[in-house]
Amino acid sequence: MPEPKHAVEKAQMCDIEGCKSEADRSIAGKKVDKAGMKLSSDPSKNAHLCHAHYKELKKKTKTDRTLERLGW
Ligand SMILES: [Zn+2]
Repeated sequence: MPEPKHAVEKAQMCDIEGCKSEADRSIAGKKVDKAGMKLSSDPSKNAHLCHAHYKELKKKTKTDRTLERLGW
């Protein structure tokens, strides 16, 4: 039986507090923090988001941009 490789690819979990989904994307923790989403990891590092939370973040950052435009 072949020995398993030393570097085992481990599934990265979503870094949003309380979320147990598998991460789909990695994004700057600062961006996630700024969007008002709670990270269970260090916000100064890269955060990993599952598909659902990435979508939520995208929605929130989109809203931010719209508000900026309205504030002109
Ligand atoms: Zn998640």
